[in-house]
Amino acid sequence: MDLDFSPEDQAFRAEIRTWMQANVPPKAGPEIGLPNHRETQAAWEHKLGKKGWLACNWPAEYGGPGWTATQRYIFDTERALAGAPPFSPFGLMMLGPVLMAYGTPEQQSRYLPKIASGEEFWCQGYSEPGSGSDLASLKTQAVRHGDRYVVNGQKIWTTQAHWASYMFCLCRTNTDVPKQQGISFLLIDMRAPGIEIRPITTIDGEHHLNEVFLTDVQVPVGNLVGQEGQGWTIAKYLLTHERTGLAGIADSYFQIGELHGAVNRDASLADDPLVRRRLAALEVDLLALEFTNLRTLDRVARGEPLGAGSSGLKIRGSELQQAISEAQVELGGLSALPWLGEVSTGDPVFRTATQRYNFLRACTIYGGSTEIQKNLLAKLLLGTN
Ligand SMILES: Cc1cc2nc3c(=O)[nH]c(=O)nc-3n(C[C@H](O)[C@H](O)[C@H](O)COP(=O)(O)OP(=O)(O)OC[C@H]3O[C@@H](n4cnc5c(N)ncnc54)[C@H](O)[C@@H]3O)c2cc1C
Repeated sequence: MDLDFSPEDQAFRAEIRTWMQANVPPKAGPEIGLPNHRETQAAWEHKLGKKGWLACNWPAEYGGPGWTATQRYIFDTERALAGAPPFSPFGLMMLGPVLMAYGTPEQQSRYLPKIASGEEFWCQGYSEPGSGSDLASLKTQAVRHGDRYVVNGQKIWTTQAHWASYMFCLCRTNTDVPKQQGISFLLIDMRAPGIEIRPITTIDGEHHLNEVFLTDVQVPVGNLVGQEGQGWTIAKYLLTHERTGLAGIADSYFQIGELHGAVNRDASLADDPLVRRRLAALEVDLLALEFTNLRTLDRVARGEPLGAGSSGLKIRGSELQQAISEAQVELGGLSALPWLGEVSTGDPVFRTATQRYNFLRACTIYGGSTEIQKNLLAKLLLGTN
């Protein structure tokens, strides 16, 4: 959307656009969900880290560029429109804000610079078999022995665990108190003895996810974030940041642009009023979501809490990502049928559409399912339990 930016913000946008055009690697576009090649992703994040733009949502005192909410919005939009992949979110969007709010000065100086430079990837060890929506029931246990915790248990659906240097992990440290009060937030070195990572292949045919088994893993007590038993409060703080980022609006604009391009290259689609109406409806929905997002950014910029806003953005953002991918498959027709690199002469946008469609079935589940977000909305807005 072309907003009425101030002259300073217009100059900022021109600077970002020029840099993106010169620096986005060819074919780095957001193929499906999260990009799947560690080297490509790491090289791109290093480049942005060197420029000082990777930790784009961080204040200057912690190594970010210290941009305003409007500048961050412009940056993310220009990044997506240039076809560059989203960043691996776990260190930048989730752990970073947590360490700034709850970390010790030692934890901040040890971990934040390497996240901001793109040197260290993180993964999120929250979910377990049987503890997804009901996360507070998690069973992975950390027992303190002197200056260490000994951790035993299993995590599942751990995105990019096979890339990560570290995992931030929710563990049970007390079984004698109500379940929310017995959880602690630990930082775990993925190279520690006792960690086993097993891949899970998803419905798009790719390896994004893993099971992580922890057997007698030793974690220094200095890697506890906040107080023992404060993990649930920290986890909830992190999840509001995670959900806001999951609306994926800038990337949806990129995907609609791609779809527009493919439709315009095929007269049988371009001349069909039903096709044009479908594209227009998607764009109107996206525009409405963007306005909601801008209102949320405005509240954040004024220091107000995110509240229910992040759940609403997550629900609509993920529904729209799915609707756009559905349109890409249905309008692609035969061109969208090839699977995982099978030869096709169809438009390149349609050739990867089915894989993207399949992966995006997950976006109404990860980061808290749509049903759970609706429960949260009901609780926060209507005061129901
Ligand atoms: C692609 C992908 C990536 C992921 N990455 C990570 C990661 O990096 N780290 C991590 O820790 N986890 C990750 N997850 C896990 C994700 O957070 C969980 O899958 C999610 O929280 C749902 O939990 P579950 O799978 O156990 O389903 P369940 O909690 O068993 O839910 C099953 C169904 O029941 C519904 N349901 C459950 N409880 C309620 C209720 N109270 N009211 C109404 N409906 C309800 C749910 O909406 C869902 O439809 C990922 C998941 C996916 C699919």
